[in-house]
Amino acid sequence: MNALVEAHCVTRHYPIGKRWPWRSPQILRAVDGVSIEIRRSETLGIVGESGSGKSTLAQIVLGLAPPTSGQVLFEGRPVSGVDTRTWRALRREMQLVFQDPLGALNPRRTVGRQIEEPLVIHGVGNPQERSAIVQRILDAVHLKKSLAGRYPHELSGGQRQRVVLARALILEPKLIVCDEPVSALDVSVQAQIVNLLADLKTRLGLTMLFISHDLRIVRYVSDRIAVMYLGRIVETGDRRSIFSSPQHPYSQALISAVPELRTSAGPRPRIRLQGEPPSPIFLPAGCRFRSRCGRATSICAEVEPELAPAGPTMVACHHPGPAIGAAA
Ligand code: ADP
Ligand code: MG
Repeated sequence: MNALVEAHCVTRHYPIGKRWPWRSPQILRAVDGVSIEIRRSETLGIVGESGSGKSTLAQIVLGLAPPTSGQVLFEGRPVSGVDTRTWRALRREMQLVFQDPLGALNPRRTVGRQIEEPLVIHGVGNPQERSAIVQRILDAVHLKKSLAGRYPHELSGGQRQRVVLARALILEPKLIVCDEPVSALDVSVQAQIVNLLADLKTRLGLTMLFISHDLRIVRYVSDRIAVMYLGRIVETGDRRSIFSSPQHPYSQALISAVPELRTSAGPRPRIRLQGEPPSPIFLPAGCRFRSRCGRATSICAEVEPELAPAGPTMVACHHPGPAIGAAA
């Protein structure tokens, strides 16, 4: 079996607002029927606008938020509803790196001690061995060893995110989930951290779920990409195909909005999305993208499209095809 992680049709629905006994609660569909597979040593990128359910999906994959329905398997075994021992083992094997490095670190402990902490918690090695491991991991994330004695507030944003990465990597987890890992950093520092992640991925053969609303960053680190819209995956495929010949009008619009991603084969002129996405509480029947889609017809109002092969990618659309204006 090649997949390290499989999510089978997972959903996460939140009841919203006051609960009246005579009225069923409104439901917000944060993730609404998503299946993904992450193979060993590959990076699956998830891209989509804010509110499309990316972080919720990450929480489900990590077993931190149980799905309302569906199931996640890690090495073929379920990640939710497990006993304490399995839970501890899973926490060691899947690590999360998220947006805010300062929030992820304890302000009152030196970064060296915080990087070492997972080793202590999991009873790895004696103090000398642990110190050697910490030195090696500092090296791997290109942090000077002298920084180990500093406190988080004494470091730059980029250095802090390297510390968070070091701590995530120190137990040699099988999966790293990065949820907008560079969104809080300055643009110049973003490139350094993204380069580091790409480098670690090749050197250590990391398996990653990499989430960002920024297509350029997702393109840089991902092998395969899934595009999310309002809790669903609307298109998925290998990185090249997604960027050179996207088949879903939403992917095309996202890509065309980034000038350096407009290629001769892909969407060339800027495609502007009409209107705002509908509320995830009041989703329209049929295709949830139809209210913003130039290709919508009557079937789009009636039948929710499922992912199916179209050209080089898998697309959830009744009218998939190259972007208007793209070379055939
Ligand atoms: P993204 O990471 O793509 O921005 P999220 O997964 O954070 O999206 O959120 C998806 C949707 O679920 C949003 O509409 C958000 O408001 C909603 N949501 C997320 N967490 C909760 C929660 N704990 N309770 C209610 N709604 C939530
Ligand atoms: Mg998010």
